[in-house]
Amino acid sequence: MSSSKKEIIQPRSIRLEASTVCQLKCPSCPTATGQTGKKLGAGVLKFSDFKDIVDKNPRISKIELSNWGEIFLNKELLKIIKYAYKRNVALHANVNLNNVSDDVLKGLVKYKFQRITCSIDGASQETYSIYRVNGNFNQVIENIKAINKFKARYYSRFPVLIWQFVVFGHNEHEISKARKMAEDLNMKFRAKLSWEDMYTKPFSPIKDAQLVRRETGFGVATRDEFRAKYGKEYVLRHCCLKLWDSPQINYDGRVLGCPINFWDDYGNVLKDGLVPCLNNEKIVYAREMLMGKRESREDIPCAQCKVYKRMKENKDWFTDKDIKKDYTKSRTVIMLQNKILEYKLIKGTINRLVAVKRLLRNVILILQGKESMRFGLFLSVFRATGVKPGPRLANRVYPLQIPLTPDEKKGWKPYPIFRGFTKGLQDLSCHASVLTKESCPHPPHMHKEEELLLLLTGEVELLLPTIQASDGSQYRHLKSGQFVYYPSNFAHTLQTTSETPATYLMFKWHAGVKKKKSELAFRHFSMFHPEKDFEIKYGFTPRLVFEGPTAYLQKLHCHTSTLTPGAGYKPHADIYDVAIVILEGEVETLGERVGPYSVIFYAAGKLHGMQNPGTAVAKYIVFEFHTK
Ligand code: SF4
Repeated sequence: MSSSKKEIIQPRSIRLEASTVCQLKCPSCPTATGQTGKKLGAGVLKFSDFKDIVDKNPRISKIELSNWGEIFLNKELLKIIKYAYKRNVALHANVNLNNVSDDVLKGLVKYKFQRITCSIDGASQETYSIYRVNGNFNQVIENIKAINKFKARYYSRFPVLIWQFVVFGHNEHEISKARKMAEDLNMKFRAKLSWEDMYTKPFSPIKDAQLVRRETGFGVATRDEFRAKYGKEYVLRHCCLKLWDSPQINYDGRVLGCPINFWDDYGNVLKDGLVPCLNNEKIVYAREMLMGKRESREDIPCAQCKVYKRMKENKDWFTDKDIKKDYTKSRTVIMLQNKILEYKLIKGTINRLVAVKRLLRNVILILQGKESMRFGLFLSVFRATGVKPGPRLANRVYPLQIPLTPDEKKGWKPYPIFRGFTKGLQDLSCHASVLTKESCPHPPHMHKEEELLLLLTGEVELLLPTIQASDGSQYRHLKSGQFVYYPSNFAHTLQTTSETPATYLMFKWHAGVKKKKSELAFRHFSMFHPEKDFEIKYGFTPRLVFEGPTAYLQKLHCHTSTLTPGAGYKPHADIYDVAIVILEGEVETLGERVGPYSVIFYAAGKLHGMQNPGTAVAKYIVFEFHTK
């Protein structure tokens, strides 16, 4: 959709406001202060207008229904939801969820409303109502529980629920409590920086910046900090991009282009049609203004906007590269997803196709004489339930040169090392990452994979929202030479606390279906204790660090070893996969000489030996992934 080529803008997604009315009085919202009402009117989308737009624009397959108001105040919402389902249009909305009838709550699930983001800026009524004035925290939670109840009744994963927490000074202390509540309610959690001075004077500025930097996982506490750190506006550039990929339309059909503009419009889709409105002279001029190709013009809404003014000041224009390809699913895909196949079925089908592909690849290897016939080869097809990315992992050495070059702008730079499947694991990967001071790779997240994080250089603080130390802290300090094990679905992130960048290795794996709950809990270990753990004896000396069953493994085993110069062991094959990280000295294996921080992988059933070819003692850490 490059505007420079004067292509017709015809996105699959639009933002069509279901209601500009809201019952809450949030202090920095222009709806509450009446700014938007004067220009946009206080009204709701008529079902007949929704139907008209959906019918006349069969390409549209996704509609975001909210922007300035609360969609649940639209009395025709249920009809809108039902019709969208009938026509295979996916609906999304950001809501306060205070006043919703049971019929509508049920309709959200029954008619597969795709995604609801609930603005809940607190974990108690007292805190929540400071910004969400007139809001009832307990009622919101009850409504979420009701949606979950209907989701269970209809066996549906829709709507996907997101808890959005706008961070202020008065609620920053409740971020972690809210995150936990969101998890209990089966919601994703997203912290968000406030609008600050976008529409009004800043409301309730951050008090404890350090806490916010950590708890949100952004590594910043304000929009200014975000700008300084990342060299771009927080979220606002995405708003401008809506002019191309998901234009905002008022409830009465006026095209506003982006979610920020309430000053003027670009025509009316109900009178002039959607595609003509999205390609008229005025909106094309606006897009070109945002790309720095045209001078500012007074009748273009952007001319009044702080975002444009800042963009102009910094000459930070959009380029063709910023204007992404439209990846919105078509109505046919929505229909398949919602009506023909349940999500799980689709996933299962894809997984089986991947398993068949893997089988065929292995059969070809057998025919070429590069692989022997094994029962496990065929068994793998039937036990496959997840996508197996990458190739089958074979014995290999992966040299790693430290220091790794950091990304000063983004703060976090991952270096992939390997990823693939093995005899027992559907997915096993390893990457190194370098994280600059105070940077955080992502907000706390959870995933099905189990992980090992080995800190090679620097110091970090781990943020572990679901556990508390005896002092009530959710943080763990990690120094180089230490490592942790994260069980599956364990919330975590980290932030560099040292002056120098932190470098770490991450091993991540899963085996499809979990066997049981992991018996190994989150643990914090040292890779070596020079005095007691590496009492050097001639030859090969292992020291057990830990071992135990996990959700995917019969046993995850870890030991450290020393290998004195000239010592080693003869080639042998293990029945499990092995990953080794060299900590000191050098070893020779698989025909290569391997130095510190390098990673060695030995696949189950494959021969490997090792010896120390150097003059210093080699020290290394070993992880064994036992699946049988
Ligand atoms: S600059 Fe224009 S497109 Fe961007 S947010 Fe402002 S009004 Fe919207």
